[in-house]
Amino acid sequence: MTTLFVSDLHLDALEPAAGAQFTAFLERQAQGAEALYILGDLFESWVGDDDLEPYREGICAALARLTAGGVPCYVMHGNRDFLLGGGFEARSGACLVRDPLLIELYGETVLLTHGDALCIADHAYQRLRAIVREPAWQRRFLALPLSLRRALATRARAGSRRHVSYTASDIMDADPRAVRDVMAACGVRTLVHGHTHRPAVHQLELDGRPARRIVLGAWHQAGSCLVWNRDGFSLQELPR
Ligand code: MN
Repeated sequence: MTTLFVSDLHLDALEPAAGAQFTAFLERQAQGAEALYILGDLFESWVGDDDLEPYREGICAALARLTAGGVPCYVMHGNRDFLLGGGFEARSGACLVRDPLLIELYGETVLLTHGDALCIADHAYQRLRAIVREPAWQRRFLALPLSLRRALATRARAGSRRHVSYTASDIMDADPRAVRDVMAACGVRTLVHGHTHRPAVHQLELDGRPARRIVLGAWHQAGSCLVWNRDGFSLQELPR
């Protein structure tokens, strides 16, 4: 039995190839898995569970077929889809989980996080994150008309692209001190995250002992999946 981890699919009707690959992934590789974890940014945007846009609903239906077949699916919020709520859970059969999350994996405790909270050098982004993750802000946003929320999300994505284009790339990477702090606080030697779109297995030292940080890749050009079973793990690129 294997446990699968993906993140940063950024599924969107305007880039259907990633969604087609993900749907095929759900129908093949994910069948018979012990569990599937999606560590944030499944969708490029999500402005509320009342937005029944057909493309995203098709993805929810594909997840529902997987979960109805007995494969549990756990979904963490990303910085794009942090408004996923109970309506998404009901339509997909997936369970939303908190960030960060500790799980037991074949005898080892592993820490899962989306990864945006690790990018502490990006002060402008962290200020924005603190605002939009507040329940009061989210209640006010979700009370706006759907058409306005869609327009605001489009504007926010354009702003994010501008921010990414003029911010140094090391500022947008996971900060080594933030990585050590969260791993030490949780008492783990393995951290799995996405968000930075830099798939890799990093070896590090924590309190004089080996530790590792596994970074999942985005699905823009090809798929990326961490496959874990009793014998160990492998971080795989899934050709399109
Ligand atoms: Mn992200």
